[in-house]
Amino acid sequence: MPSRSKKVSVVTGGAGFLGSHLTDRLLTEGHRVIAIDNLVTGNPANIAHLGGNENFRFIKSNVSSYILVEDAVDYVFHFASPASPIDYLELPIPTLKVGALGTHNALGLAKAKKATFLLASTSECYGDPLVHPQTEDYWGNVNPIGPRGVYDEAKRFAEAMTMAYHRFHGMDTKIVRIFNTYGPRMRLRDGRVVPAFIGQALGGTPLTIFGDGSQTRSFCFVSDLIDGIFRLAMSDFHEPVNIGNPREMTIKQFAEEIIRITGTKSEIEYKPLPVDDPKVRQPDITRARKVLDWEPRVRFEEGIVKTIEYFRGCLERGELGERFEG
Ligand code: UDP
Repeated sequence: MPSRSKKVSVVTGGAGFLGSHLTDRLLTEGHRVIAIDNLVTGNPANIAHLGGNENFRFIKSNVSSYILVEDAVDYVFHFASPASPIDYLELPIPTLKVGALGTHNALGLAKAKKATFLLASTSECYGDPLVHPQTEDYWGNVNPIGPRGVYDEAKRFAEAMTMAYHRFHGMDTKIVRIFNTYGPRMRLRDGRVVPAFIGQALGGTPLTIFGDGSQTRSFCFVSDLIDGIFRLAMSDFHEPVNIGNPREMTIKQFAEEIIRITGTKSEIEYKPLPVDDPKVRQPDITRARKVLDWEPRVRFEEGIVKTIEYFRGCLERGELGERFEG
């Protein structure tokens, strides 16, 4: 890579939904970006627009095995992981490995390069929460041996590992706990509720509500999330920070909103609730407001319309968002 006048960021999971948006933001901020992805759940189409950009490089590799970067590096963003419940149910061991071994490798890279490290953690650390809304000082209610445990516990281990590198090695580390996020570049068939309902609405098939739809989620548009993450990376704050949109709704309300906004004739169909599905989820963002001067700005309807347009384009092109490998 050319001169050292620019900051260099490594983004693991750089071809994924969040990793690719983060890559775009870092390039806009004047960084060079090295994206690493094994393309199990990532999609080359998410970074296709960066082909030919001299500040961008893509390495296809599995960060759970090793990470080889010869350049000087200023920031390591560890975003590689399956992140939808279906993906981590179908890829339980890669999910555990990337949260544990992948985090170890990414921290090792950051340590060797004297770089700042940022971990993409998750609201899943709170499990099926008994505190609502969730504050960062809540330790969570996670079933370690349930089907979601492979993701939740790997991320909890990743947080422990990150704090150990911070305390023991004196490294500059950050932890973002990401709540439900939506927007363009999600995989249509990744099983999460936003692509599922929009895909069903656009295809004229029933919207599948799991359980009675009384469980709640709080949806953040991707550009807001990435802005919070960028601010956190540039801050000197080392404790975990929730980033998400506190606007909470039930899954039934969400289905009704999708039906209204798309104007579909699709009806609602009820299916069994998956094991350990959290009953409520809403971020308390007091810390992000105070430490990062951040709060979400994109209104729900505005973000959803952009997301619907993206999925409409995918459907027209026959891109159904299957996993590539694994
Ligand atoms: N869900 C649903 N229908 C679907 C997919 C998901 O009712 O087709 C529900 C799911 O049971 C959960 C919520 O929507 O209560 C959000 O699920 P998602 O998979 O998006 O992520 P989670 O927040 O559970 O990690």
